Amino acid sequence: MSSACSIRVRGVVQGVGFRPYVYRLARANTLAGWVLNGEEGVEIYLEGSATRLRSFVQDLKTQPPPAASMAEITVYPAHPVGLNDFTIRQSQRRERPTVRISPDLAVCDACLKELFDPADRRYWYPYINCTNCGPRYTIVLGLPYDRPYTTMRDWPLDEYCGVQYGDPANRRFHAQPVACPGCGPGYSLHRSLHLSLHCGDEVAHGSEQSIRAAVQLLNHGNVLAVKGLGGYHLACDASNPTAVRALRGRKYRKEKPFALMASNIEVARNLVELAEDATGLLMSKARPIVLAPAKSELEGVAPENNELGVMLPYTPLHFLLFAAGAPEVLVMTSANRSSEPIAYEDEEALDRLSEIADAFLIGERPIARRVDDSVTRAGVFGPVILRRARGYAPGAVATFPNARPILAVGADLKNTITLVVDGQAFVSQHIGDLSDFQSLRAFQETIQDLISMYEVRPEDLLVVHDSHPQYASTAHALALGVPQSLAVQHHRAHVASVLAERGEWQTDVVGVSLDGTGYGDDGSIWGGEIFVGSVRGGFERVVHLRSASLPGGDAAAQYPVQAAAGFLTQLNDLPDITAAPFGFSDRYQKAVDLVHKDVRTFVTTSTGRLFDAAAALVGFTRQVTFEGQAAMWLEQLARNAPLVEPYPFPYAGGELDFRPLLRSVVDDRLRGRNIREIARAFQRGLGQGLHDALIAICREHNLSIVVLSGGVFQNELLLEDLKSMFQSEPIAVWTNHAVPPNDGGISLGQAALAAFARFDCSA
Ligand code: ZN
Ligand code: FE
Repeated sequence: MSSACSIRVRGVVQGVGFRPYVYRLARANTLAGWVLNGEEGVEIYLEGSATRLRSFVQDLKTQPPPAASMAEITVYPAHPVGLNDFTIRQSQRRERPTVRISPDLAVCDACLKELFDPADRRYWYPYINCTNCGPRYTIVLGLPYDRPYTTMRDWPLDEYCGVQYGDPANRRFHAQPVACPGCGPGYSLHRSLHLSLHCGDEVAHGSEQSIRAAVQLLNHGNVLAVKGLGGYHLACDASNPTAVRALRGRKYRKEKPFALMASNIEVARNLVELAEDATGLLMSKARPIVLAPAKSELEGVAPENNELGVMLPYTPLHFLLFAAGAPEVLVMTSANRSSEPIAYEDEEALDRLSEIADAFLIGERPIARRVDDSVTRAGVFGPVILRRARGYAPGAVATFPNARPILAVGADLKNTITLVVDGQAFVSQHIGDLSDFQSLRAFQETIQDLISMYEVRPEDLLVVHDSHPQYASTAHALALGVPQSLAVQHHRAHVASVLAERGEWQTDVVGVSLDGTGYGDDGSIWGGEIFVGSVRGGFERVVHLRSASLPGGDAAAQYPVQAAAGFLTQLNDLPDITAAPFGFSDRYQKAVDLVHKDVRTFVTTSTGRLFDAAAALVGFTRQVTFEGQAAMWLEQLARNAPLVEPYPFPYAGGELDFRPLLRSVVDDRLRGRNIREIARAFQRGLGQGLHDALIAICREHNLSIVVLSGGVFQNELLLEDLKSMFQSEPIAVWTNHAVPPNDGGISLGQAALAAFARFDCSA
């Protein structure tokens, strides 16, 4: 008796060796039928004995291929048609593709073994890959995921690769980027036109020769532009201060920490303290940069910072560089000038980086889209993603309960966009700061990219943007000309992002959004807000930081002393802040004048600026050179202090009052107390005050879940304090794990709130 069934599998199931796996499983169970990549996922038809069909489905569910991530398996009964064997059928193109594109995958152990096996055809071949590993999102030009729709379309397979590609028993069966030195792209080394090389190498040809020559340059202290998966890196010897200084100078990057690549896990362990969960992140398939406490200092790599950002090699090329004798710790920073996005096109890279890099190690395979390295931390509440890009994007991060197609365009800093199709929320890679022209272009490209990849018709979309009237993202969203658009308040989006990750749509929570800058309901600059409500019902603001002035508006974020002026003018009997030990510059006095005359002065509840004010009082009186620097500096200072009594940060009448907190900082500074202890007491005070307020709010509203989001919660010390304070309370604390707590998570939160927004006819 023959039975039959159809199976549809959704999730990350294309380009991960799924069809060959199904093929082998069907053959092993002596089942006939076929498998193909459809637009909604993998489709399987099977016929054979009912018992064998059941065991097939059981195996499919319990032992999927390693790189796959199945979201849904649906089995439908069917009528046997009398097939004799099992085949892999041509992909179908039908309506809208809703299959998920796999993020890029680190090279697998089997490929690494071949890479270093002199008898293997792909010995030393930098583009080795198989169905379990290699590029995906960064080579996809369209769906379904098949070679003609990837950036490998210009390299026809030779016989060797063709046989493997066509052999269901082979690890490279239908591996779309498969290639070998005989037929595939290679790497070559090019001299920069603007700088002379220090060791007189000729331009090298051939992958192996080029890689070896590049390593020579690295060992001689040169800066190398290296084409990777989602863009170019700038690489140099991390233990060579001259090279690191040269890179900083040429890149106009004064102090922002550089990411490092350690040749292997042991080297990483010598570099940073790696707890078990941090090791797990570091070695995970996504291979992100992991921030961890530094064990030793590398001059110029991360000035005034206790943490280093470290990653492990993830492409065959990285392994080859180290095998060829590259320094065991390399600076591997996104190749760009200052705040521009990472360069990913060869001509663009040669043009933009020619005054930074001494030489270019260029791979021929084009990059379909720019994707930076992801940045993570093993936090006290679980993993934190600070920048979500390579290895994670464009994975779905949430399943929405309704099917309305939504495009959420995020915020202007640390921009990401979210596209919701058929209830799946896909979050783009980190795009960056939209005030930069290149980033704005990347933003527009990414929107087009996702919309066309998932074949969404713009006229069907609900477009969601921040309520800030001057955001570039808002202007672009409105210019898309879609029939429906919706503005979502920034800090509500932060809170909603945590709940969307968890699929908590109805749950009432106390939502805390401590942040740098966001446009508030009343037109003032918010960033210290506590809400009560749910994604479905909306969030009501119940408590906020006491309002302060912000002289000069957003520009104050550049100058902690300027931000401080807006807070300190509320303190009585203030000593002369321009004198020792404070030594504030003229900028402070000018800002105070602005506040008193109420000229170019805005109202703010920004906790980010409160941190800046505290940092200024403790000694960070210069201009910041990257976003959040002063607050990071204060956190690092506090980390090195013993546990101290918290400063008072009282909560009354719907306000958290910063005055006693700053008063304490001022007084202790005048007394000459150690600045580490002051920083610690400030941080703990902020945490304690927030905790006490949250307990009161939970009681008042009969709630037991607290949600924390917003840029301030990148502060791990604050989270540690809160964790220990909440330990003894019957209250759950939820934070972001799939999207960043910073503005990188805004687009997901916007989409979530929009999914439940009610419209009359047209909004
Ligand atoms: Zn592989
Ligand atoms: Fe924000």
